[in-house]
Amino acid sequence: MSDDIVELTTKHTYGTWRAQRGWKPIHVTRAEGCAFWDASGKRYLDLSSQLICSNLGHQNEAVIEAICAQARQLAYISPAHTCEVRARVAQKLLEVMPKGLDKFFFATSGTEANEAAFKMARLYTGKHKIIARYTSYHGSTAGSVAATGDFRRWFIEPAGKIPGVVFGPEVNCYRCPLGRSHPECGVACADYLAYMIDHEENVAAVIVEPVVGTNGVLIPPADYLPKIAEVARKRGVLLIADEVMSGWGRTGKWFAVDHWGVVPDILTTAKGVTNAAAPLGVVATSRAIADYFDDNMFAHGHTYEAHPLTLAPVIAAIDEYRRLDLLERATKMGDVVGAKLRALKEKHPSIGDVRGIGLFWAVELVKDRATKEPFNVPQDKAARRPLVVDAVVAEAAKRGVSVMGWVSHLLVAPPLIISEAEIDEGIAALDAALDVADQRL
Ligand code: PLP
Repeated sequence: MSDDIVELTTKHTYGTWRAQRGWKPIHVTRAEGCAFWDASGKRYLDLSSQLICSNLGHQNEAVIEAICAQARQLAYISPAHTCEVRARVAQKLLEVMPKGLDKFFFATSGTEANEAAFKMARLYTGKHKIIARYTSYHGSTAGSVAATGDFRRWFIEPAGKIPGVVFGPEVNCYRCPLGRSHPECGVACADYLAYMIDHEENVAAVIVEPVVGTNGVLIPPADYLPKIAEVARKRGVLLIADEVMSGWGRTGKWFAVDHWGVVPDILTTAKGVTNAAAPLGVVATSRAIADYFDDNMFAHGHTYEAHPLTLAPVIAAIDEYRRLDLLERATKMGDVVGAKLRALKEKHPSIGDVRGIGLFWAVELVKDRATKEPFNVPQDKAARRPLVVDAVVAEAAKRGVSVMGWVSHLLVAPPLIISEAEIDEGIAALDAALDVADQRL
């Protein structure tokens, strides 16, 4: 039976960013808390919250109940009308959003949220260009992938390249693209974005992941984001913060920008907003942008926009983050995870860097610590060549631990409810699995 499911899936469905030939997905039959089970009954501890989205843990009862109740009451009504859940969710979001972001567009993914944000920025400013950064991800449809600074954009070039996106350097203090080091650099990478704006005509917005996610949990120094915000404000360019992955307690705050007191003009988010139990993307905008679109058409919309079933879990999810004190817990447990990962670095020469914030950690694998030469580069992933990190992921899976690997790093980002015993279990499996990387040195 299980084989049939896997066979039917691989034959008739595409999967997501499918890296390997011979993809054999796990047939999952059940999930609860920080774990899921396959059809044979094998348990996996989920160290990456699936796609870093099940922040409350699997099958959170309050979230599931809210979706069921909404389905029974009113499963769909067009976005041209309203219903209670639409109004109440907007009201609830005001409690957690950075102050001043008070009007929302509801889409059905992070990708779509960014698409809508670009359109808003272009309509509002009357300008066209988006400045994005290398080593970032913003989604997979035309505009959002065009603004993606990693290899996922390469597939659509040159034919599908959407004009109007210009790339600047990311902030990466382990591998500084400008060859500098902080604090002597004075965040030269932020100055470089200012230089770009000054030398490009027609810039509508700068988009950043405040903490870069898939590309390796790149945490900016404290002076970086405030500087970018100031640079953008002075030049009349909007700042878009993509908090699709970094939001919802992941870094120990509701949103990563909260660490640095930065309020962007537009904030996009998804994933943890519903604990990924329903497909919701949110665009939160400043009052100035909201006022502009009161007088001018926001030429955008979807049949599934502000869908009652996608909105239904939001209030329950926010209440659960609070009831379980998960922002605080992410910080506390993050310290535990960080200490244990650093101890792994002492033991495994294949670990070049360990970095994280809250329960959002990356373990970067290198061939050589001194030169920081990675085992694999994005070109390997794009060409579907075997990656060392995938061998580590496979070893961890054999030991009942699911962890996400990406090019040359692991992403350790468990549900925020994880216990210390579960952390120990996950670390023990990583410890054993990392021997595979050590053997490749
Ligand atoms: N932006 C960031 C920072 C992400 O991490 C992701 C997905 O991982 C997206 C956008 C795209 O979101 P979605 O997969 O919901 O379309």
